[in-house]
Amino acid sequence: MKTTISSDALTRVCNILTEARKPTAPRVELTRFELALLADGVATNSDIGDYLITSEFRAYSSIEYFFEELFAPLEIAQQFIFRRPVDPLDEVHGTQGLSAVDATAFLIGLQGLGLQVDPSRLVEKLSDALKDRHSLTGNELEIVLYGNYVNRRRVVLKARPTESGGAKRETTHEDEAGFRFAMQWEGDSVVKLEVLGSLYEVPKPQEHVKCDYCGHEYLTNNTAEARIHQDVHTRRQEMFDPEPEQRFASHLATDVGGERVDHKSPLWMHGAVLERAFEFKREFRYDFVQWPGSSVTRAGEEWVGWLFAADAKGTIAGACAFMNRDAAAAVPDWSLQWVWLAPKFRRSGFLDARWAEFLKLYGDFDIEHPLSEAMQAFVRKHGTEKQKAALPAAVHE
Ligand SMILES: [Zn+2]
Repeated sequence: MKTTISSDALTRVCNILTEARKPTAPRVELTRFELALLADGVATNSDIGDYLITSEFRAYSSIEYFFEELFAPLEIAQQFIFRRPVDPLDEVHGTQGLSAVDATAFLIGLQGLGLQVDPSRLVEKLSDALKDRHSLTGNELEIVLYGNYVNRRRVVLKARPTESGGAKRETTHEDEAGFRFAMQWEGDSVVKLEVLGSLYEVPKPQEHVKCDYCGHEYLTNNTAEARIHQDVHTRRQEMFDPEPEQRFASHLATDVGGERVDHKSPLWMHGAVLERAFEFKREFRYDFVQWPGSSVTRAGEEWVGWLFAADAKGTIAGACAFMNRDAAAAVPDWSLQWVWLAPKFRRSGFLDARWAEFLKLYGDFDIEHPLSEAMQAFVRKHGTEKQKAALPAAVHE
């Protein structure tokens, strides 16, 4: 936060901050001001001033005389407060003030500057009313996040340039609560104040990195990015280093369909094929996911998927999908849309072991282009004459 203030008000703030903190007894119950603020939902500036002099006594409670100058630098917007008229036709007169939320955010801002105010009781009461809200104003957010940021802020106030000039110097000090201050003076006026809360930590540097395992690119030292990476990483781990799945093991042991996924198979199998279709799309940078099924809808009858079992314990090594390109024809026209195996199961004979059965079930099927290098090599070795003929001309040997 870097905000502008008059050098006069900034100097008065610093006169308070350079005085020793006054000892205060911790208070649990709400003050009269706080009760009224919560009941009315608003407070006039004069109510706020009266409250501040009961809390920040330093420099002869001088805060009363200039606190309104801190509204703008702390991004607090004033409003007119009116008494409800007895008769709707009565003339009404407004007084400047703040809503309860804005007044509390103001106190949070003052506390961040190192001033002796305690917004914690108001924060507690107001947070309750905000806890189910998905959208918040900036000041409401200050209240909701109070516990995370109290005493942890760095605040910088810069004064508008003055004509006065004067000798430049910087003073630094730490107060009894552990707040650290750096003040830049020009003569008797302060032109810049930097406040570090007692628990302030220099933010860790952020850099763009790429995870070697899952390939996700993210910003370090950023909680939201870390959460997204964790999701992607876990999902990829389930595909790359799959765990045995009991339901697949049971299915393999009892169902004659075994690895086959068609319109009669359980939904989870359709979902498992889809997850591998996503991996195929990602790895080979295709535009479309070629599997219309998911864990909530089954793929239509023109589609058949296969889940490759790595063992009898239900570990899924990979998947493939066939599509009948002409459902109206008497003889189905099957084509292999894609094959994806977890890297550690590649070149282990999974496709080879099933190829003869695929040819039996789907005839001399086409293989959807383009083909990866590995798939081209496989077809050259195990494919039918027609499948080999459809390959692009070999560039090697
Ligand atoms: Zn990762």
